[in-house]
Amino acid sequence: MSASFGLFRLQQIDSQIAQVETRLAKIQKTLEDNAELQAALEQVKSAEEEQRASERAQRKSEDEAQSQQIKIQQAESSLYGGVVRNPKELQDLQADVASLKKHLTVLEEHELEDMLRTEAAQSVAKEAQSKLSQIQARLGGEHRQLFEEKESLVNELERLQSERQAAVSAIAADVLKAYDELRQQRRGVAVAEVSDNACGACGTTLTAAIQQTARHAADIVHCPACGRILYAV
Ligand SMILES: [Zn+2]
Repeated sequence: MSASFGLFRLQQIDSQIAQVETRLAKIQKTLEDNAELQAALEQVKSAEEEQRASERAQRKSEDEAQSQQIKIQQAESSLYGGVVRNPKELQDLQADVASLKKHLTVLEEHELEDMLRTEAAQSVAKEAQSKLSQIQARLGGEHRQLFEEKESLVNELERLQSERQAAVSAIAADVLKAYDELRQQRRGVAVAEVSDNACGACGTTLTAAIQQTARHAADIVHCPACGRILYAV
């Protein structure tokens, strides 16, 4: 067995660990990143605020129109009640009624505008609420799946960590240190398998002598181009 076999095994485990960790980080981010949900919640909130404001305005304009109608009724009952007989006074009352009615028209216009505004606001709020419900339903399903995947990845990670411990225990401390340093320098890959007479990581063609050493020697041999530890079956 070559010296690099234990390192190659360790490299395989470390690559798997790195893969699992990358996926776990991505899942975590997806679970935390709920920008879409936040936006939908904001929309519901502002639509409901608008709805409440327009409902308040509508009630106010209804009250104003109603009290205007009462004023008109009172003025008309004075006008036609027969109590006031003075022509000048009657004329004034008539003018009052006309002006009160004219203002009522304006108030009723406001009432109508507010009613339409309320209806529009209600429909916007209803739409925002239904969009929010859709997002919540969809995210619920997606998140459940992600939680399940996360759980199985965490188990896998534990298994890999104990495999790693076993693999590391068979490697000399100085070799392990060199391996760790190489991994940091070479984007996580310190050991390359020889395949088709070339370094499996950088693709450089290797001499027969180098391949022979990688296969059998007790010493560790490095790729002359990328410096990775070579392993050959
Ligand atoms: Zn190489």
